[in-house]
Amino acid sequence: MTEIERHAYDVVVIGAGGAGLRAAIEARLQGKRTAIISKSLFGKAHTVMAEGGAAAAMGNVNPNDNWQVHFRDTMRGGKFLNNWRMAELHAKEAPDRVWELEHWGALFDRTKDGKISQRNFGGHEYPRLAHVGDRTGLELIRTAQQKIVALQQEDHREHGDYEARLKVWAETTVTRLLKDGDRISGAFAYVRETGKFVVFEAPAVVLATGGIGKAFKVTSNSWEYTGDGHSLALLAGATLLNMEFVQFHPTGMVWPPSVKGILVTESVRGDRGVLKNSEGKRFMFEYIPEVFKAQYATTEEEADRWYDDPDNNRRPPELLPRDEVARAINSEVKAGRGSPHGGVFLTVVGRMPGGAEEIKRRLPAMHHQFKELADVDITQEPMEVGPTCHYVMGGVEVDPDTGAALVPGLFAAGECSGGMHGSNRLGGNSLTDLLVFGRRAGLGAAEYVDALAARPTVSDEALDAAATEALAPFERKGGESPYAVHAELQQTMNDLVGIIRKEGELEQALAALDKLRERVANVSVDPVAVNDGRGYHPGWHLALDLRNMLLVSEAVAKAALERQESRGGHTRDDYPGMSAEWRKVNLVCRLAGDPSSPRVELKRQPMEPMRDDLIGLFETDELKKYLTAEELPADVAAEAGETGGTGEAPAGGATAAGATAAGAAGAVEENEEGDR
Ligand SMILES: Cc1cc2nc3c(=O)[nH]c(=O)nc-3n(C[C@H](O)[C@H](O)[C@H](O)COP(=O)(O)OP(=O)(O)OC[C@H]3O[C@@H](n4cnc5c(N)ncnc54)[C@H](O)[C@@H]3O)c2cc1C
Repeated sequence: MTEIERHAYDVVVIGAGGAGLRAAIEARLQGKRTAIISKSLFGKAHTVMAEGGAAAAMGNVNPNDNWQVHFRDTMRGGKFLNNWRMAELHAKEAPDRVWELEHWGALFDRTKDGKISQRNFGGHEYPRLAHVGDRTGLELIRTAQQKIVALQQEDHREHGDYEARLKVWAETTVTRLLKDGDRISGAFAYVRETGKFVVFEAPAVVLATGGIGKAFKVTSNSWEYTGDGHSLALLAGATLLNMEFVQFHPTGMVWPPSVKGILVTESVRGDRGVLKNSEGKRFMFEYIPEVFKAQYATTEEEADRWYDDPDNNRRPPELLPRDEVARAINSEVKAGRGSPHGGVFLTVVGRMPGGAEEIKRRLPAMHHQFKELADVDITQEPMEVGPTCHYVMGGVEVDPDTGAALVPGLFAAGECSGGMHGSNRLGGNSLTDLLVFGRRAGLGAAEYVDALAARPTVSDEALDAAATEALAPFERKGGESPYAVHAELQQTMNDLVGIIRKEGELEQALAALDKLRERVANVSVDPVAVNDGRGYHPGWHLALDLRNMLLVSEAVAKAALERQESRGGHTRDDYPGMSAEWRKVNLVCRLAGDPSSPRVELKRQPMEPMRDDLIGLFETDELKKYLTAEELPADVAAEAGETGGTGEAPAGGATAAGATAAGAAGAVEENEEGDR
């Protein structure tokens, strides 16, 4: 058998972004021997790139803010498809997690009276994003790493070994989860520098691997986002929830081509930036959907007054949720009113009272990014921006309180888990999601380990199979280059499963993915000159990542074809309305068929009805826009019945699992008062 190094832990956390670090800290605080595994360098997770801030209803800038308002905004942003228990926990616990970070040493920007400053962001009713300039993710990671070092120093004092209870495995990629019967027993990985194999034996594994953006051609995501956690979970028998919901951030750079997709933070719009088309018009006023009409300004004057007097004016439409803004930009470009390089203009020129100096102070990273990458000085010129694949709302189906997936011993948190953000995530809600649910998953994993009667074991056969799979690209001779196959996969997802979707194109995408499956199975690589041919071998790494990107792409395309409505990050050209019937349906993916070439299988699963006290937080008129008559509180339903109501159950009673597609489609037609 190939040489494999073995290590034993209580809890293994895969991923060293915000979710992984917070989960690992918690597992260690609970006394568990914990490993953090990261395929990138320690400190270079995706979380580092987060710019705008972390959303928490601390009420520092507007005292009217509280968890109930944050909960409402999150549910509205997700178009009521959120796992409401997760949204509730998030809204309630986010302030504590931000204060905890400060306690651990994070240096947030301050208000004049010395509180943590909070900024405006799309979809948030009040200024809510705790931030550090536009480099908040960096501070989060720096602080979590500092806490880890502090814990390691504690362990050194107690055990004479810094890594006695918390060890970081940087540049180490997990390719398989291992199981003993039904239960998790560890993870199989290779070390990127040497290509050598390592097995981590552990009864509990927390997935915190982030997103899937590298399956798309234009993306704000970095090379790490290849859907590994999503795919590892599927391959281990867990389920993925609502994978059709992919967020296209409205403002990515569109020029020059080498930087296309790189994010332009929403803070630009939160800090008075406006969107204009080639005719110089602030076009967002034309795109305020019915469901948001009450909260958004209809004139430029009111929108501009809002920045200084938010209590007496409505918000600018540039701060609508991301899905709305992305679709609006898409429509302007399609109508021929785009910028020279296929985007629209975003400008802060002349918009800040302190002029150029204030722009540089409030948006230092954006100023630097445009100057260095596009030779544009944002204090003097507009930016050209367009939609870019940014975030996946779909992910591993978990228990909201513990982060437990369906497979015993498996947990997930952060972007790779599903449910919290429903059909669309509000900006700033990810960073606090990482902290709230990272902590909960670490705790859940520790409690799971405590309750175990006996540790599961790792079999030689499982290791053999994992090693054989990892070495396969070297064994195949004369196969295709992984780079060529990856490029085609990305193009397919971009063109056919992108921001606006249609039945025919989704079917075409699935057929193309079927063909790509054969090609992925046939990619081959040659050994390199160092470390037995496997040291720092990017071609080999990509060959292994392709399995993951293909599986998540299939999950996204299948779910997108199934959901015959438009909601949040999922826009169907052929089903433009939002359907109250479809809101009750979660689409759940699992793997089926031949284990050597498994297929994604889709199931409709009923959404659990929201608790009455949470329903009571919304106005009747708003509820009627999202819920079916039978879901509404009795008095509201009676009123809705008299006035026609919304979301009549379609013929066939398509309410949940087993609902017919035709039935749900019926609901779309009856409920055209959508939010397109
Ligand atoms: C440019 C940009 C700006 C953003 N700004 C904001 C913002 O202002 N506010 C906000 O709330 N959200 C923001 N987001 C979103 C947010 O940053 C991410 O959703 C979040 O950081 C994800 O954190 P995570 O811990 O789930 O994953 P990550 O931080 O991406 O960490 C994933 C980790 O998993 C590791 N990994 C992956 N696969 C494997 C494997 N197979 N084996 C071992 N390790 C693996 C990676 O190396 C990495 O360490 C932004 C995103 C981008 C791209």
